[in-house]
Amino acid sequence: MKIKILGAHNTETLRTKHTCLLIDDVLAVDAGALTSHLSARGLMRLKAVLLTHSHYDHIRDIPALAINLYLKSLSIDIYTHQTAWNNLTAHLLNDVIYPSYHNKPVDRPTLRFHPLAHLTAIKISAYGILPVKVNHAIPTLGYQITSPEGKSIFYSGDTGGGLSEVWQNISPDVLLIEVTAPNRWEEKLKNNGHLTPHLLQKELALFHKMKGYFPSTFAVHLNPGGEKEIREELEQAGDILGIHIIPAHEGMQLQL
Ligand SMILES: [Zn+2]
Ligand SMILES: [Zn+2]
Repeated sequence: MKIKILGAHNTETLRTKHTCLLIDDVLAVDAGALTSHLSARGLMRLKAVLLTHSHYDHIRDIPALAINLYLKSLSIDIYTHQTAWNNLTAHLLNDVIYPSYHNKPVDRPTLRFHPLAHLTAIKISAYGILPVKVNHAIPTLGYQITSPEGKSIFYSGDTGGGLSEVWQNISPDVLLIEVTAPNRWEEKLKNNGHLTPHLLQKELALFHKMKGYFPSTFAVHLNPGGEKEIREELEQAGDILGIHIIPAHEGMQLQL
């Protein structure tokens, strides 16, 4: 399984893109940086998009992906939970902001919705997908994705702490988890459902206690303004745990 990090940040600038992963060039996870990174050919190779939740930085490129495919008479499968889909179609693909590509063309809509539910495993091609509820400001699913060879990642989407139930249900080789801001933001972020390096350290210690190992851990959804601090604090957190927590960056590739 080859994972390309298309976006590793929570805001877009010239240098940073919204959090977005691409697996084996065919499966996208969140859609914050698809059309800004993929050629027309790359977009056409996509088989499915998994969305964690409906915040703008995670769904931004769905309309742009849709019109690219619509104009070529192609369709794509969109997997997410019902709430995220309702938000996307009510507020963005609503024929006011942008066309409702889930309804057109009528006989074969461009966007085909597949509802996902907490702990209901599905298959997309040969990939095993386990959706797991995480702790964010709005309903959000993280995804454990298992390759045909049996290697697995867990991508958290946006989440705050209190992940013991999540850890109970997953056993990934690689953890891609959000770390949005430096430790000094901890009190503010707790209410919004995000992590700091210190909060991640506590969650990883819990993971180790429950599972007996540490997954290879990569931090995504970094705030560019606090990135230098986040990187230093991730290193400190890793030192305490005896591991290396790697801040992800655009263009990074992982091979499992
Ligand atoms: Zn969010
Ligand atoms: Zn976000």
